[in-house]
Amino acid sequence: MDKLDTRVQYIRGVGEQRAKSFEKLGVETLRDLVMFLPRAYDDRTQVKTVAELQFGESCCVSATVATPPKLTHVRKGLEITRCAAVDETARMTLTFFNRSYTAKNLIPGESYIFYGRVAGRIGAPELLNPVMELEDRPPEVTRRIVPVYRATAGLSQRMIASAVRQGLAMCGDELPEQLPKAIRERYRLAQTRFAYENIHFPRDTGSLELARRRLIFEEFFVLSCTLAFMRSRQREKSGRGIHVPDMAPFYASLPFALTGAQRRAVEDILRDLGGQTPMSRLVQGDVGSGKTVVAAAAAYAVIKDGHQAAFMAPTEILAEQHFATLTKLLAPSGVRLDLLTGGLTPKRKREAQAKLRSGETDLVIGTHALITDSVEFADLALIIADEQHRFGVQQRAALTDKGDAPHVLVMSATPIPRTLALIVYGDLDVSVIDELPPGRQTVDTFLVGQDKRERLNGFIRKHVSQGRQVFIVCPAVEESEENPDGLKSVKEYARELREKVFPDLRVGLVHGKLKPKEKNQVMEDFAAGRLDILVATTVIEVGVDVPNAALMVVENADRFGLSQLHQLRGRVGRGPYKSTCVLVRGGGGDTAVERLRAFCRTNDGFRIAEEDLKLRGPGDFFGSRQSGLPDMQIASFATDLDMLRSAQTAAKELLDADPRLQAPENALLRQSVTRMIERNRGTLN
Ligand code: ADP
Ligand code: MG
Repeated sequence: MDKLDTRVQYIRGVGEQRAKSFEKLGVETLRDLVMFLPRAYDDRTQVKTVAELQFGESCCVSATVATPPKLTHVRKGLEITRCAAVDETARMTLTFFNRSYTAKNLIPGESYIFYGRVAGRIGAPELLNPVMELEDRPPEVTRRIVPVYRATAGLSQRMIASAVRQGLAMCGDELPEQLPKAIRERYRLAQTRFAYENIHFPRDTGSLELARRRLIFEEFFVLSCTLAFMRSRQREKSGRGIHVPDMAPFYASLPFALTGAQRRAVEDILRDLGGQTPMSRLVQGDVGSGKTVVAAAAAYAVIKDGHQAAFMAPTEILAEQHFATLTKLLAPSGVRLDLLTGGLTPKRKREAQAKLRSGETDLVIGTHALITDSVEFADLALIIADEQHRFGVQQRAALTDKGDAPHVLVMSATPIPRTLALIVYGDLDVSVIDELPPGRQTVDTFLVGQDKRERLNGFIRKHVSQGRQVFIVCPAVEESEENPDGLKSVKEYARELREKVFPDLRVGLVHGKLKPKEKNQVMEDFAAGRLDILVATTVIEVGVDVPNAALMVVENADRFGLSQLHQLRGRVGRGPYKSTCVLVRGGGGDTAVERLRAFCRTNDGFRIAEEDLKLRGPGDFFGSRQSGLPDMQIASFATDLDMLRSAQTAAKELLDADPRLQAPENALLRQSVTRMIERNRGTLN
C-alpha cells in the first residue's frame, strides 16, 4: 500500500478522536493531510522589544518571565492568569483568558518569544492570550510565517499544524513528484517536497510564492490532463458521420450572404459532422455576429441527410424567438420545425412529443422541456445549445443521451476566455465569429448621473418620435424588498413612466415573475412595434432581436456586471439605425464608475469579459447558477489565468505524446487524473 494512503489516525499525536474531527475537514489519509492547504497565513516574522510595542498590533516580542503565573477566578466560566515579563527595555503583563493550562507552564527566569495582541495602557503594555516558545527552540509558532487552516471543533490551529508537520516528516522523500522534470525546468517550478513544506511552513515570503506557483501549476496541470484524457476517450466513441449534402440551395435561400467568419464557422462544422467522432464545437461570437444562421446551416446539413436536430434555448422568450427566426430560415427548404416549451398546453406538448418520436419533426426548438423523460427522438443527430453556459452539465448530458452519440454545437455570446471555455465545456473545438455583418452600427455608450434625468427623457422621446423603440432595463427589485439604495421596483418604475413621464406613449413591462404567456405577449407587442418603450429586467439580456430598437437605457448600471451590460447593449444596433446605450448611475462608488467609464470606451466583448473576470471572479462571470468550473484547492480561475494557460499547453504536449498516460513515468499523473475524475463525477465534461 502507498504510504500516502495511511489513515490520519495513525499519525503521531492524532489518534482516533482527532481523526474524526479531521474527517469533517475531508482529511482521511496522509495524502489528504499534506494536501490540506492553509487558507491564509499569519506573518509573525516581526520581533519587537517591549518598549516598541504599539497598542492594537499583533507581533512577536522576546522577553524573560519575571513573576510566577497568578490565576484569578473572575466568575464562573472566566479565569484569568497573569504574569510579568521583561526585557532590557521595559516590563509588560502577559494575560491569559481561560488558558491557565498554557500559562502555568511558564517558568520564571526563562526567556521566551511571545506572540499576541498588544493592549494595556501607555507605559504598561499587556500582551493578550500570547502563544510562546522558548527562545532557543526552533521557531514554530513565533518568528515566522504561520499557516492558518480551516478549523473545526476539536482541532486547534496548533494541532492541525503539528499533525501536518508530523505528516510531512512521515512522507520523508516519498512525496510524489508527478510533474515531469522537463516541465518543471521549463516553467521554473519548485520540487514537490519544497512546495509542500513551504506552503505549510514557509521559510519566507519568497519561498511561499515559489511553493504556491508550483502547486497552482500542478493543480491546473492535472485538471488539464484530466480533461484531455477524458476527451481522448470520448474520441474513441464512434459518432455518426453524416453525409454532408449540397449546401448551395440553403445559401441561396438566405436573405443575405454569409460573412467570411460565418462561412468559416460553417465549414468547421460541416467537417466535424462528416467525421467519425461526434462533433463537440463551440461557436463563439459577439452579440449580433450572426450565430443563429450558422446553427441553421448545421441543422440543414443533418436534416437533409435524414436525421433530426434539437435546439435548446435558455428561456421561453428566446425559444420562441429562435423558433420564429429558424422557421424563416429553414421552412423554405422544406424543414419541418416545431416548438416544445414548458408553457405549452399538455395537449400541444403531447402532440409535439409524438411528432418527435415518429420523426415528423426535423428540428425542435425548446427549453429545458426538451430534457424531460417523456421526450424521445426518432433519430437525434445534432444538438445545438444557445447561450450554453446557462445550462448545467447534467442537463446537457441528459439531452445528449437522447441520441446515439449526437453531434453537439454550443453557441455563446458571452466571450469566455478560451482558457476557461476549455474547462467549462470540456475540450471543445472553437470557431470564433470575429466579424459583424456588414452595415452594423457600433453602439455609442454614455454614462450619466441622476441629474441628467430631464435630458434623458427628452432623448427617449426623440427616438420614439423618429419611429424607433426604446428598452429601459432595471435591476430586478421586488416592491416589498428592503430598498437601501432607493432602488425602484420595476413595476413601480413602469407605472411612473406610464402615468407621469410618458402618458402619451405606449409603455410595456416585462419581468421574470410574469407568466410565460403574458411575457410572450408583451415581447410580441414590442417586436411588432405596438409598444414604444419596453421596461424590463434582465430577462431580455440574451438573444432578443428587435432591429427597430435603437436606444437602450440601463438604470442603476452599477448593479450589473460588465458582461451583462455588454449583452444588454447588444440588444440595440441590430438594425440600420444609429444606436445608443445610456447607463444611468445608481449609488455605486468610484471603482464602479471607473468600471463603467471603461465599458463606455470599448465594444470588444472579449476585453470586457477578461476585465469582468478580473474584477468579479468566475462565479459571477458565469452567473449565479452552476458555473461548470470544478472546485480548486489552491488555484483560482480568476487570478491565475496565465498559469492556467501554461499548464494547458504543457498538458497538451504531454497528452499528445502519451494520450492514455500509459508510459511508466506518467503513472503517478495517471493516478491523479483518475482521482480527479472520481472526485468530479458529473461536473467535468
Ligand atoms: P447573435 O450572434 O447575437 O445570435 P443573430 O444570429 O441573432 O446574432 O443575428 C443578428 C442579426 O443579424 C439578425 O437580425 C440576423 O438576421 C442578421 N444577420 C446575421 N448574419 C447576417 C449577414 N451575414 N448579413 C446580414 N445580416 C445578418
Ligand atoms: Mg443569438
